[in-house]
Amino acid sequence: MLTDTALAGSLAGIVGQAHVIAAGGDQEPYLVDWRGRYHGRAVAVVKLGSTAEVAAVVRLCAAEGIALVPQGGNTGMCGAATPPAEGRSIVLRLDRMNRIRAVSPLANSITVEAGCILQRIQEAAAEVDRLFPLSLGAEGSCQIGGNIATNAGGTAVLRYGPTRELVLGLEVVLPDGTVLDRLQGLRKNASGYDLKQLFIGSEGTLGIITAASLKLFARPKASALALVALPEMEAALRLLERLRGTVGDRLGSLEAMSRGQIEVIAEHVPDVAIPFALDCPWYLLVELTDTLAGTDLRTPLEAVLGAALEEGLIADAILAGSEAQAAALWRIRHSVSEGSKRAGYVVSHDSAVPLERQAVFVRNTERRILAAVPQARVVMHGHIGDGNIHVLAILDRDRTPDAAAAAPVAQRINEIVDDETAAQGGVISAEHGIGLSNRDRLARVTAPGDLDLMRRIKALLDPQGLLNPGKILLPAPR
Ligand code: FAD
Repeated sequence: MLTDTALAGSLAGIVGQAHVIAAGGDQEPYLVDWRGRYHGRAVAVVKLGSTAEVAAVVRLCAAEGIALVPQGGNTGMCGAATPPAEGRSIVLRLDRMNRIRAVSPLANSITVEAGCILQRIQEAAAEVDRLFPLSLGAEGSCQIGGNIATNAGGTAVLRYGPTRELVLGLEVVLPDGTVLDRLQGLRKNASGYDLKQLFIGSEGTLGIITAASLKLFARPKASALALVALPEMEAALRLLERLRGTVGDRLGSLEAMSRGQIEVIAEHVPDVAIPFALDCPWYLLVELTDTLAGTDLRTPLEAVLGAALEEGLIADAILAGSEAQAAALWRIRHSVSEGSKRAGYVVSHDSAVPLERQAVFVRNTERRILAAVPQARVVMHGHIGDGNIHVLAILDRDRTPDAAAAAPVAQRINEIVDDETAAQGGVISAEHGIGLSNRDRLARVTAPGDLDLMRRIKALLDPQGLLNPGKILLPAPR
């Protein structure tokens, strides 16, 4: 067995000395998650430059029995990219693998390396007058490999689907170092199992994604955005039903925020302005888009909202009068994570429930959390149209400085959310994933047969259990 020093030397032999950060070096940013909840350690952080290098490092670690933790932009919400605190592991960074390999406006596709920052892919698509629709608050730092590994959602799922629906093909290094090349980018393929699907949402536990072929779309050339004040959550769902019947596919986004959520942003994100009075319990961003330049979207949006206002379904609405105004409204939505993080210790949830059950889910969950944990500040935001609502219980940081202090309260809150999610026929993670923070909860709310099949797939692909051990599933005994 190689010593840590010898292992770092062998890794340097593959990727070059400049791309290995050994223990004791400047590893800290890679050892802690975005929320600062988990802290691990690593024999080395390795910055890979090519698929061949990834394969060589994986083969070396397989031979040495060293665990591997792939890490993208490290913006994940559930500790999935943090190395374990025990045992020997290395962190794999793909930042250097950030090339756009090909763009085809004809095929409406783009092929990129896994370390590409999401925003760079959006820009590369725009350069050929196309849209890559995945959009989320962390888009300036998260990487497409991480997006695919978490099956990220974001604000455009209603129209374009989650990351899973945007992937045409993948290149993946398997735990034994084999490279699976499925980058053809074909739209139709009925040749047996769709292997790429296994790796989408697998949180780095089944393979290391090194490149992806992704779908592009025509770029919206017209848009209209409104901020709508609602007397209750049901109104958002009734408005959605109407919008689906009138504007159809032009409905791009429907993002809800509770009043408390916006108050948190107003209090903690100084450069975000809230240009409306906060006198309703819910606010909704409604965006229509169209790919035909000059399409008038304001008139149909005004018509739907005007009728809703007259009937008392909604309390108020403002339409963005310029692109700058629209950007300022979106900035509020994109500040929810930052504001909440600054507001205190956050016990956050990522449930999805069927649309018909969403209002009752929201009401019951808030009521039960406040009854059990009256000191919590319960706020919510969500991608209403796709059933995903984030319930956040914010605890005072003076009384709850860290995860250990929060544990008993967090456990109680988790039980309530899990119970309500299950009662309404939902799932506990719609887009953030399971990682470490939701692993035990997954076991509680998932059918035993499903968990067993997941364990068998993991054991088949990664019999040594070296890939991101302890994430999603408890590590198999070794
Ligand atoms: P990491 O956090 O680095 O890793 C996440 C997981 O992917 C880990 O399991 C890691 O091992 C694995 N992984 C990373 N790269 C690879 C690879 N190349 N091969 C295999 N496995 C890999 N998420 C949403 O879904 N919707 C949102 O709206 C949203 N908003 C956010 C807003 C903010 C401000 C922040 C900070 C986060 C937000 N997130 C959101 C969460 C996060 O950005 C996403 O989960 C994102 O997809 C993670 O990408 P990443 O590159 O940072 O991955």
